[in-house]
Amino acid sequence: MKRVLVVEDEASIREMVALNLKMAGWEVVEAPSAERALELMHSGEHCDAALLDIMLPGMDGLSLCETIRRGDSDIGIIIVSAKGQESDKIRGLSIGADDYITKPFSVSELIARLEALRWWDWDREKIKRSIDAIRHGDIDTLEKNA
Ligand code: CA
Repeated sequence: MKRVLVVEDEASIREMVALNLKMAGWEVVEAPSAERALELMHSGEHCDAALLDIMLPGMDGLSLCETIRRGDSDIGIIIVSAKGQESDKIRGLSIGADDYITKPFSVSELIARLEALRWWDWDREKIKRSIDAIRHGDIDTLEKNA
């Protein structure tokens, strides 16, 4: 079953999102803070995707995104920004988020975006091998041109 981590401090939003995701066939892990989310991940809780609200008490969603990515985590990340904070969206994408959604959002759009990531279908090892092959290919080409 696909599993998603929902990080949101507003309980009503978090519960509403969790309920809808469960109805759409997702397994949901909820965290009211970035610190709690990291605790869950460090305790071996595997998630295929994460939905990160930016405005959180303590560590914010952007720092959390950066921290998760730095851990080389195989996880699809969608950040949730408040309306109009374009710089946050750009920053989020530049530090490893795969997509973003603006608050207030429709749960159907959120689910569609999560499904669109298809991160869990990716063969990460295969991708890494392809990247390595391309790198070596580039080196060969560079040597020939030298
Ligand atoms: Ca919030």
